[in-house]
Amino acid sequence: MTKPTELASLLHQTFGFAEFRANQEAVCVAAVEGKDVLLVMPTGAGKSLCYQLPAIARGGTALVISPLIALIDDQAAKMSALGLKVGRIHSGLSREESRQVCRDYLDGTLQFLFIAPERMRVPGFAAMLAKRKLSLIAIDEAHCISQWGHDFRPDYRTLGQHLQALRPTPVMALTATATTEVQRDIVLQLGLQGVAKFIHGFRRTNLAVEVIELSKPERHAKVREMLLNPERRPAIVYAPSRKDADAMASALAVEFPAAAYHAGLDAGTRERVQKEFLAGRIEVVVATVAFGMGIDKADVRTVIHTAAPSSVESFYQEIGRAGRDGKPSRSILMYSFLDRKTHEFFLERDYPPLDTLSKIERGLSRENEIHADDLRVKLKMSMDEFAPAMDRLVAQGVASLDYSGNVALIGEDSSWRKGYEAQVN
Ligand code: ADP
Ligand code: MG
Repeated sequence: MTKPTELASLLHQTFGFAEFRANQEAVCVAAVEGKDVLLVMPTGAGKSLCYQLPAIARGGTALVISPLIALIDDQAAKMSALGLKVGRIHSGLSREESRQVCRDYLDGTLQFLFIAPERMRVPGFAAMLAKRKLSLIAIDEAHCISQWGHDFRPDYRTLGQHLQALRPTPVMALTATATTEVQRDIVLQLGLQGVAKFIHGFRRTNLAVEVIELSKPERHAKVREMLLNPERRPAIVYAPSRKDADAMASALAVEFPAAAYHAGLDAGTRERVQKEFLAGRIEVVVATVAFGMGIDKADVRTVIHTAAPSSVESFYQEIGRAGRDGKPSRSILMYSFLDRKTHEFFLERDYPPLDTLSKIERGLSRENEIHADDLRVKLKMSMDEFAPAMDRLVAQGVASLDYSGNVALIGEDSSWRKGYEAQVN
């Protein structure tokens, strides 16, 4: 059995981290022992490590189920950079690539195999997995399993029955957001046995989230006005650029101790600002997104975004830095229609045009599977246009995709359109 000291040295050697973050070690120990685990921990707290480290310690291949191709690719790239042997199977890969990954898995050369949940529905896939003994199965974003959750995915719902074939491999369910109800649902649906629960997530009931429409020139004055109230400090203000951060910081510094923080400052200055802020000598930091990673200051009363953040994920993380002491705190997002334009490119990547989705849907058939790439060629679409849209159709439960890249229609009707339009708008 792996001793805690061995886990610590794996942590240094493989991940290059000096120490465990709060709660990680206990989770890793339970997982190494082969327990089923339910882990609820806020975004950015370091859940990935809680399955990666035990998987390495246990040896063999870990199966990781993740809901989005983007998440899979991102995670796999990070892990490969650490020198880990990672395979992925998803619709963005060619048939040959997916086949090779299956061969690698069967040869036992993979430490991690990433798949999206719908893969488990593919006939023969679970049986192929069962040919070897998995070290563990990690189910990321496990709240997707519950209809009570905010991100319900039908394919998560059926995971439980497929996992039975892979037992007694230990199963870990990880999520940042799960009410008690969702937690119960996860345990029930996945059939977790003698589960070790680590619940560190919290609903941020003390955090008021406000969005105000304000043109760019009005924003600096508004920030100043808000922060003149001493009860709203300490505060973090996120600015869209270094120049903007510098300008606002010097304007605010006339009223109270304020400083800028961004990647354009030298390391010494950044460290000093961070320290003084933690110590309470600087009350307001005006920062670009460079600020905040690893910042744990309990009494931040206000987080202001003077421009729309690049994603909901980062918004969630950034406003999460307010009110960690549980006292009432505010988050204010300033935006205007023009900001939206800046991000439209990214929005479109996540939510491709409905037209494209419809075109692909018409090309799919319930009876006949077609290889995704053949369909793409038939529809005369570029990979850039096709891949995210196909991804979305699968996410919406309209299409299925098997491990050799074949796609088919599975949706019952076109009711998904309404939901999709609501998500996009
Ligand atoms: P989550 O999945 O909980 O949102 P991640 O697993 O993506 O969070 O981790 C967030 C960040 O924290 C990553 O950049 C990761 O490398 C880092 N991290 C995780 N554990 C540690 C640790 N023990 N020491 C330093 N950084 C860590
Ligand atoms: Mg995560």
